[in-house]
Amino acid sequence: MNTVTLEHQLTREELLDKTDDPSNKDLFNVDGGSDRIRYLHWGDARGEIHFVASINRRVVGIGAVRVNPFDDSVLWVKFVSVEAALQGNGIGKLISEAIFNYAQSERKRLHVASFSPMGKQRLLPLFHRLAVEHPELFCGCSDCGVQIAQRQEGTYKNE
Ligand SMILES: [Zn+2]
Repeated sequence: MNTVTLEHQLTREELLDKTDDPSNKDLFNVDGGSDRIRYLHWGDARGEIHFVASINRRVVGIGAVRVNPFDDSVLWVKFVSVEAALQGNGIGKLISEAIFNYAQSERKRLHVASFSPMGKQRLLPLFHRLAVEHPELFCGCSDCGVQIAQRQEGTYKNE
């Protein structure tokens, strides 16, 4: 696989700029375009902070987070999505780690929405590991896709 470039904290407008490149014309799935990045929607993308993986300028994966409007100490992880043909190459992991590092640098806790079946397989174990090492960086609410470690047992509720 070619080199993956990762860009951090892009706005919706910066994503729109990428559609100037012919390879990204269908990024937002308008006019019958492809469904390259599942869960990326123009309306929702306002206010999202995007972590964008590209290969030769073509966007192949995006992770999106949003600050919880009711509690700005919490970052919602909206989705981590990789183009179907390129899944299994560690791109989702790269994006997820960038999101984690962002939370750490911003001193915010992550609330991870539910995982897709693919995400359960590929990303949940990574987030679990991060939550064991850094429970302070996860919100720990009962709705979280990642349950923080029960320290006394050192295990996960949903394992
Ligand atoms: Zn939560």
